[in-house]
Amino acid sequence: MKDTWGREITYLRLSVTELCDLRCRYCMPEEGVCKRAHSDLLTEEEMLMAVRAAARLGIEKVRITGGEPLTKPNILSICRGVAQTPGIRETALTTNAIRLPQTAHALREAGVQRINLSLDTLDPNKYTYITRLGSLSQAMKGIEAALEAGFSKVKINTVLIGGFNDQEVPALADLTRKWPVDVRFIELMPMPGNSGFGPESYIPVDRVLAYLPDAVACREDGVARLYHLPGALGDIGLISPVSQHFCTSCNRIRLTADGKLKPCLHSAEEISLKGQDENGMLESMRQAILHKPRCHDVLSAENRSHAARNMNQIGG
Ligand code: SAM
Ligand code: SF4
Repeated sequence: MKDTWGREITYLRLSVTELCDLRCRYCMPEEGVCKRAHSDLLTEEEMLMAVRAAARLGIEKVRITGGEPLTKPNILSICRGVAQTPGIRETALTTNAIRLPQTAHALREAGVQRINLSLDTLDPNKYTYITRLGSLSQAMKGIEAALEAGFSKVKINTVLIGGFNDQEVPALADLTRKWPVDVRFIELMPMPGNSGFGPESYIPVDRVLAYLPDAVACREDGVARLYHLPGALGDIGLISPVSQHFCTSCNRIRLTADGKLKPCLHSAEEISLKGQDENGMLESMRQAILHKPRCHDVLSAENRSHAARNMNQIGG
C-alpha cells in the first residue's frame, strides 16, 4: 500500500532477535543486552503471522535481521516460513557471517535467496577491535561459505568510519575483483548508544571515490549508487543515510524482535503487534504505514537519531 506521501511500501525488515555473538562498537553496548522475558518477544508463529499480514498489504520483500539472526535457534524454520508466505517474492538475510560455515547451505534450502554480510576491515586486529569479540578469519570463512552455497549477488556491507577504515577502501573494494560480490560502503549513523564516535568518524560516503580513481559510475540499486572497477566481478555501492538521506524513496517498515513496528528507523514512534491476531496486525501495520513520516531530522554527531534504540534492537 501507499503511505500518505505516495510512497509504495513493499519492504519489511524483520528483526528476529536483539542478541548477538559480536558487540560492534557502533551498534550495541559492550555488556550486551538485558535479555527480555520470553513473553515480551514475538513467537515464531507471531512473526510469520505478521509477515502474512504484511504480504496482504503489499509487502513483497522481507529481510531477516537482528541482532545476529543466526544466533536464533529456530532461524531456519523462520526463514522457511517467510519464504513460503504467499506474496513474498524475495527472502533475504543480513548476517555478520560468523556462523555461515554451519548454516549457509541450510539457509538456501530454507528459501533464503539473498544474503548481505557485514565486514568493516581486513585487518585481524582491527576486526577484533571494532566487533569487540570477533575473529576476522571466522568472518572470512563465513563469506566463503556463502559463496560456496551459491547465493547470487552476495553483498558485503562496510560501515565507513573516518580514521578507522577509510584508508582500507581500496583493499575492501578489491574484494569485488576477487569474488563475485558487491561491496557497499555505508555511512556511520549516530544512534543513541554510540556516542563514543566523534565528529571525525562521520565522513560522507562520497569520500570513497577519492580512493578509487578507476571507479566508473554505473547505476542505482535501491538506496545504493553503484560504481564498477575495471575487471571486477561485482560493483561498489555507496549508501548515504547521513549526508544525503533517501527518505523520498523510502519503501520500508521495520518490525523489532519485541513486536514493535517502526514506521521510520530514526523516529521514536512504535506501534505494538504483540498479542494481536492476523487481522489486528494488518490494521496496526496499515496505521504504521499511514504514520510514516515524510522525512527524519538531519543526522550528525551532534544531532543523533531519535530512534530510542540501538541498532541491534532495530535490525539496521
Ligand atoms: N548482525 C547482523 C550484521 O551485522 O550484519 C545483522 C544486524 S546489523 C544491526 C545490520 C547492519 O546494520 C550491519 O550491516 C551493521 O553494520 C549495520 N549497522 C549497525 N549499526 C550501525 C550504525 N550505527 N551505522 C551504520 N550501520 C550500522
Ligand atoms: Fe551484532 Fe550486527 Fe550489531 Fe555487529 S552490527 S553488534 S554483528 S548486530
